[in-house]
Amino acid sequence: METRTSAALFARAQRLIPGGVNSPVRAFGSVGGTPRFIARARGARLWDADGNEYLDAVGSWGPMILGHAHPRVLAAVEAALQGGTSFGAPTEREVRLAERVLERYPGCERVRFVNSGTEATMSALRVARGATGRDVIVKFAGNYHGHADALLVAAGSGAMTTGVPSSAGVPKSTAETTLVARYNDLPSVRALFEARPRDIAAVILEPVVGNMGVVVPTPEFLAGLRALTREYGALLIVDEVMTGFRLARGGAVERFGLDADLVCWGKVIGGGLPVGAYGGPAHLMDHVSPLGKVYQAGTLSGNPLAMAAGIATLEVIDETPDLYEVLEARTAQLEQGLRRAAQDAGVPVTLNRVGSMLTVFFTDEPVVDFESASRTDTAAFGRWFHHLLARGVYWPASAFEAAFLSYAHTEADIQAMVAAAREAFFALAE
Ligand code: PLP
Repeated sequence: METRTSAALFARAQRLIPGGVNSPVRAFGSVGGTPRFIARARGARLWDADGNEYLDAVGSWGPMILGHAHPRVLAAVEAALQGGTSFGAPTEREVRLAERVLERYPGCERVRFVNSGTEATMSALRVARGATGRDVIVKFAGNYHGHADALLVAAGSGAMTTGVPSSAGVPKSTAETTLVARYNDLPSVRALFEARPRDIAAVILEPVVGNMGVVVPTPEFLAGLRALTREYGALLIVDEVMTGFRLARGGAVERFGLDADLVCWGKVIGGGLPVGAYGGPAHLMDHVSPLGKVYQAGTLSGNPLAMAAGIATLEVIDETPDLYEVLEARTAQLEQGLRRAAQDAGVPVTLNRVGSMLTVFFTDEPVVDFESASRTDTAAFGRWFHHLLARGVYWPASAFEAAFLSYAHTEADIQAMVAAAREAFFALAE
């Protein structure tokens, strides 16, 4: 496969942009090799700067649920474009997108649009702290909620450790207000509440984890979190940035019947443009400025192009009654094909999937939390990844990410992916 143009662009980019990329995982750091510079995309396919074609299993890390360059989304953005790109004033499109979002989440009465998932979770935390008058938050090891200081904290050594920043530049004092529990382990959360019964403003979680690879919550864990947060007067923040509008019309909240206090969105809600949002009942969201004392603002928030892409995406979802069925069926087809191929090649893997999110862990143990995810063989993954890439399948470039399918992936596309993966597994086993 010719990659000279990508390599030249990467060399230029590295002289200009830290690591040559504007978001770290794009640099192929954990798998090595040259990141492909993408020139264009349509449906389930990407083309790189050298003209190579790939079947895409990344979907821009989640937003592209309809596939790339969906004609309705393009038309909506083009129409918005003609009217001007930003006004810094309210617009009808913001109202229309707010209606579409809130109608899907009956527990939410108000929504505020921001520009990224990071802004959404960061702002939801501020609301939780403002509304409860408490400072401490609980997150789960291996859950990623964007790069705000308070959330760049993970437990290197398992559950119940106080925050150790997982990035330089995060003040120790900030990390200390973030407690880390273990996913799917209710006692680890209870212990934190028992130690700090009146300090914890909120528990934030990924309702299906995508960011240590796909990890599925047990129903007891979800129900227990709701009960514990209630018992101690803390809020439950459900980070639906990956799962919202993807696992069901009403995301994981609908799929699992969750009772969230605050919900965060991103990715699909912007149809591929930079959008995030957070929402909840009026009594919480009315703390947000200008009504309340929790300040949050944005020059480009509610941007007309981004709102147009979001509205079009949610409209198409609504007009496609078999969307979630098809996504489920196609991703199950991929899961089964990958499982069989790995077995035939004698490569031990654990496949975790919910709806159209899927991870192949290179381990034969069940993966239920950060520790078990960490036991995946990253070197084997890296080799498998490059065998796939060479065969025209663009898989997430990290052992700890979710692959995402779209409605544009056909049965034949999945067969082609499975055929490439089969060869990749056999190449590994050689
Ligand atoms: N929350 C979750 C669950 C995410 O997966 C991500 C990004 O991957 C974020 C928050 C941050 O979103 P963004 O990258 O748009 O800032």
